[in-house]
Amino acid sequence: MDIHGSCHCGAVRIEVPAAPTWVADCNCSLCRKLAWRVAYYPPEQVRVTGPTTAYVWGDRMIGIHHCPTCGCGTHWDTLGEDFGKMGINARLLDGFDESAVEVRKFDNAAD
Ligand SMILES: [Zn+2]
Repeated sequence: MDIHGSCHCGAVRIEVPAAPTWVADCNCSLCRKLAWRVAYYPPEQVRVTGPTTAYVWGDRMIGIHHCPTCGCGTHWDTLGEDFGKMGINARLLDGFDESAVEVRKFDNAAD
């Protein structure tokens, strides 16, 4: 069953094949400020439509996208290397309930 999501203003829409069973709560310098809960999917299983702006920092491995209108963080994807996955901000998925999934703490405080 496809799970849908969108940013606050609705300009960016996300479609993934299934609801996440776990999400990452990362403490890197960016995630601490953005408070994303990240769900991972193979890129070919994800559809993101609408305009996004990518923020690139640090080792420049990934683009961290947000909606230019409402500012919601939407997803990250690779800038070249094949990770076999991309990250979706699970907070944007319809019906997402953080208390109903496993939240894994990722310790990336050095980044
Ligand atoms: Zn928006």
